[in-house]
Amino acid sequence: MSYVAVRIAVHDPATAAERRQNAAHGASRGSVPGTMQAPKGRKQTPHLQILAGPCAARMLATCLVLSFALIACARQKSPDTPQTVSSTLLPATMNSDDPAPKPSINSSRAMQYVRDVVAFGPRPIGSPNHKKLETYITSHLKGVPVEDDAFIAETPEGKFPVRNIIAKFPGTRDGIIVIAGHYDTNYPLRNTGYVGANDGGSSTAILLELANQLRGKKRDGYSVWLLWTDGEEAVKQWSATDSLYGTRHLAEKWQKDGTLKKIKAFLLTDMIGDADLNIEQDMNSTPWLENVVLQAATRLGYQSHFFGRSIPVEDDHLPFVHMGVPSADLIDLDYGYNNVFHHTPQDTLDKLSPQSLEIVGSVLMETVRLLDKM
Ligand SMILES: [Zn+2]
Repeated sequence: MSYVAVRIAVHDPATAAERRQNAAHGASRGSVPGTMQAPKGRKQTPHLQILAGPCAARMLATCLVLSFALIACARQKSPDTPQTVSSTLLPATMNSDDPAPKPSINSSRAMQYVRDVVAFGPRPIGSPNHKKLETYITSHLKGVPVEDDAFIAETPEGKFPVRNIIAKFPGTRDGIIVIAGHYDTNYPLRNTGYVGANDGGSSTAILLELANQLRGKKRDGYSVWLLWTDGEEAVKQWSATDSLYGTRHLAEKWQKDGTLKKIKAFLLTDMIGDADLNIEQDMNSTPWLENVVLQAATRLGYQSHFFGRSIPVEDDHLPFVHMGVPSADLIDLDYGYNNVFHHTPQDTLDKLSPQSLEIVGSVLMETVRLLDKM
């Protein structure tokens, strides 16, 4: 995925995580703007920050920043009234007396899936390890209807086989909730020992664990489709045409065959295993669906891990967003101080925590439950 980081002025200048990080590193995030390095194979504009102050003060920023600053202003009630992004999203009418049991997942099993996946080594598209992982995923879906969306992608490095894997859990209600995450790892880093424990590994694993939670249970709600996306990563340099190979293909296919209009929500997970979990409020996602996610997180007591920072993220949800499907990307792009582990060989198991998988897995299940009732 790719993003431009913009701090919205309406909330506390430092998230809880940043305060923890700052304490650990003795540095102020706000004092080092423009220092983010674009990882190889991923387009990233410099890390931009707009700290407190009225809109007029932001006019000094670049045109690029300005467009996002205007969005920030639109969300701001009053420059003098500090307000968290979370509180602007949270509906005032949330029912805290809901007696439904709170969902949870088997996070140690989910963590074991990450270990298994990482043990294959680098898993870029077209590689033997990628093929092994495909078999690993489908071998964990026995007894579940599985559909493949396999095709050959044209990339700047030639033709590659790409395979989206879809596991279907039918419900009683007309409509589909898709929960997705990519399983390929970064292609340009394929010879560096890069294993993508968080970026590729965590999303693969959480979907495998959700399959365990859904398997064999009657769904009194929408159908849930788990989607392991492929070819999310750029092959050479992140761009509209060199990225998101799998989801661009699938969104088009589902538009043609009529599936797309049945999708009530597209929930994406990416990089959700970081032990210091801070899910972004993605400005490219659908606000009402992010509201539901935040309701779910709040009911489970996990809201402090959600939406402390607002940034626009380019990820596998975009092809669906562009086709009008309500979508929410659950991603933590603050992976290590200043995102230093992202797309580096430092993306390893020791940075991850089962608790983070538990948080995201249970929030996803609670989100589905809330959507079923809507
Ligand atoms: Zn990546």
